[in-house]
Amino acid sequence: MQNKLCFGVIGNPIAHSKSPHIHNLWFKEFNLNYDYKAYLEDTLSLQNRILSLKGANITVPFKEEVLQYADICSDEVKIIKAANTIVNDNGIIKAYNTDFYGFIKALQNYDFKRVLLLGAGGAARACAYALMKNNIDFTVFNRSKKEDFICKVENELYEFNFDVVVNCTSSSLTGQLPCSIELLNKLKAKAKIVYDLFYTKSVFLEYFENAIKIDGKLMLLYQAALAAEYFYNIKISDELVKKSEKIIF
Ligand code: NDP
Repeated sequence: MQNKLCFGVIGNPIAHSKSPHIHNLWFKEFNLNYDYKAYLEDTLSLQNRILSLKGANITVPFKEEVLQYADICSDEVKIIKAANTIVNDNGIIKAYNTDFYGFIKALQNYDFKRVLLLGAGGAARACAYALMKNNIDFTVFNRSKKEDFICKVENELYEFNFDVVVNCTSSSLTGQLPCSIELLNKLKAKAKIVYDLFYTKSVFLEYFENAIKIDGKLMLLYQAALAAEYFYNIKISDELVKKSEKIIF
């Protein structure tokens, strides 16, 4: 009998992860007899865990660290400099990034021109890559200087009208706002859509009363959908993503 194929999400912490729920739901949907679990690892155990699985999603804090174990990096990984999806192809480790796809898919039904990204970490790099790929004009603001981006300072933002403001910082994790109230009030006057990559309570989204609000749930599901193509060669439809959102969250 053939061994059951094992997949998982690797991070630290990891108990909160919704990825096992998502992939196990899709195994049921497609009648796949695979295994997908959450794995709590540290720097020393990361490589062995990757090698023990057929495929893995990688989350905080290993998305950059994992690159040293990759034999092949996709084009987007080379630019974003972070991977969240690893395929173990008979010992050849292939690294992909599906966060950029998840980010832009969640915006697919909206019309917009200019985007402001708040934050300049790994998630912001994935968002910036998606926007560049789709020829969408964007600006980056971060509380501290980052060499990957030409970040604007707060005053320089006042001259623009941003239709979409994305919180790519981890401020919502600690219940904080990602920038000053002065800046938020300026943005609030013009933004049509506000988007927080975080998928539970966001004080940032709450601050914008009249805008369309998007949280990180759809991004999470769509990044998992592209990972499923790499892992199991199955196509997850937009309808299944929407149905999964209702079941999982
Ligand atoms: P990083 O640690 O790489 O970057 C964190 C960024 O947030 C930095 O720009 C940092 O600024 C900024 N920051 C942190 N705290 C604050 C604060 N209190 N106020 C203002 N800025 C702050 O994290 P990631 O880029 O990997 O992740 C960012 C967020 O995106 C997380 O909340 C994560 O959960 C979410 N995410 C969601 C995904 C989804 O599928 N929904 C996928 C990927 C990420 P500085 O440089 O000055 O330290």
